[in-house]
Amino acid sequence: MATVLKAAPISQQIVEDLTKQCSLLKNNGCIPCLKVILVGAHPPSVIYTRNKKKFMEDIGAECEIIALEEDVSEDTFLSTLQTYAKDSSVNGLFVQLPLPKHLSHIDVGQMVPPEKDVDGFHAQNLYKLMAGDKGERALLPCTPKGVITMLKYAGVNLEGKSVAVIGRSLIVGKPLSLLMINYNATVTMCHSRTSDLKKITKSADIIVAAIGKAKFINSEYLRESGDQILIDVGINHDEFGNLCGDIDQSDVEDKCALITPVPGGVGKMTIVSLGQNLIAATKIQMEK
Ligand code: NAD
Repeated sequence: MATVLKAAPISQQIVEDLTKQCSLLKNNGCIPCLKVILVGAHPPSVIYTRNKKKFMEDIGAECEIIALEEDVSEDTFLSTLQTYAKDSSVNGLFVQLPLPKHLSHIDVGQMVPPEKDVDGFHAQNLYKLMAGDKGERALLPCTPKGVITMLKYAGVNLEGKSVAVIGRSLIVGKPLSLLMINYNATVTMCHSRTSDLKKITKSADIIVAAIGKAKFINSEYLRESGDQILIDVGINHDEFGNLCGDIDQSDVEDKCALITPVPGGVGKMTIVSLGQNLIAATKIQMEK
């Protein structure tokens, strides 16, 4: 039976640390402050932003959700974003995606100053990641950062490991592949046009599923030895409406060594990483 690597104990440790750091910053006259711009009422986005706000308040930071109407004009959206980008009392800023169709052409990641970019999507932060940074100077994208935090907690040394990352999105697959390379793993980035995916996943020490297809990875993708580590990034619903990942957890649980659950796995760590980035961003701005 695989070890289930849950986020809860990891999150608890980090919350304690972030709460202390927040309190120290407050004693130095700065309450870390996050602004989240939410356009419309896309139900998952409303839940995600609410969870992020609760997490920030739990560690003692301030968080405000700036709710704009679904049909907000491009001018109003941009001027709102610019107001908070320039406001020196705001330490972290991001736009909850997805945006409605009429705003989806805007590259919001580049409109948030790099030192407030708690999502880690600004070109300057992504360049540092590409240049080998493991988070020393860059604000890293939250989901990849959360995956690395989980692996470190579990004592997994990435050096020399072969990793199959399935999915090449800008928010998960690509930055996570780069980050794992920075930890000296050998990464194969797979996607919808990859041929013979099973051959690649069977030869990997670690499989990361970031596909967006419920229970896509099953035991047919694993080797017989039962020694593989499975990271499930997916957040989907199964045919009964229950939350599930990209990995068929019940099919693989006795055929791998370690697995992250859904829910209670990478999703929770994404919010934890956001909290870590807010504290890091606040410190960067205080040092300036
Ligand atoms: P995306 O739709 O942008 O990318 C999906 C990727 O999967 C693509 O690169 C595509 O090439 C690949 N893919 C699709 N079908 C495939 C197939 N048959 N074989 C191999 N690759 C295939 O998705 P995303 O934004 O990266 O999200 C992926 C999943 O992770 C979703 O379920 C999303 O909800 C979830 N997610 C979770 C978190 C978290 O905090 N846990 C954060 C972001 C995304």
